[in-house]
Amino acid sequence: MDRRALDYLHAMGIQPWAERRVAVEVLTPLVPEEPITDGGPGWEELEAQVRVCTRCDLYRTRQNPVFGVGNRSAELMIIGEAPGAEEDRRGEPFVGRAGQLLNEMLVAIGLAREAVYIANVLKSRPLQNRDPRPDEVAACEPYLRRQLALVRPKLILAVGRIASQNLLKTDTRIGTLRGRVHDYAGTPLVVTYHPAYLLRTPLDKRKAWDDLRLVVRLLSGVA
Ligand code: SF4
Repeated sequence: MDRRALDYLHAMGIQPWAERRVAVEVLTPLVPEEPITDGGPGWEELEAQVRVCTRCDLYRTRQNPVFGVGNRSAELMIIGEAPGAEEDRRGEPFVGRAGQLLNEMLVAIGLAREAVYIANVLKSRPLQNRDPRPDEVAACEPYLRRQLALVRPKLILAVGRIASQNLLKTDTRIGTLRGRVHDYAGTPLVVTYHPAYLLRTPLDKRKAWDDLRLVVRLLSGVA
């Protein structure tokens, strides 16, 4: 494990045991982007659709839709809940303190933020950061599914309770959903805590580290 990962684990209050070393260089996605020929919108068209989307009422109060960022040929796709205030202002998912922690979590398993693709279930911000409503998720989910079809990742990491429950169409507790492999639209999916939650609940950072180790094993094909 390199210095940055060790620094991260130290900051997380996690003892980096020797057996927890993860060799991750193999995870860097190098697959070239290929043209998609299945008739659905490509990246530019999809992003343009989201920019002017009025499928649910959240468009009325958003500053910017938050489409998604990162490597469009990534092996790992991170899916969160919805933009917060800062994301809405900047038009980018997972910025601010929680985004910084997510970046550090990724670095801990050898992945730069730019190596993964990051999107949310909802592309527009619910005011006061309230939970997404089912009708909003239903309206927005086709965009996410299309992003998934375009990226074709090996694995999805659902981040946080809201994203996990909405993707898996369940109200099962996140603590129960963690630690096993689910399926979302034909792609394996694992669950971990939201970094904003981890900032508030440092005791669960160790569990998040276990989730990240599962991600590494799945990407490496050894789980
Ligand atoms: S949340 Fe999704 S469906 Fe609703 S307006 Fe934004 S992009 Fe459209």
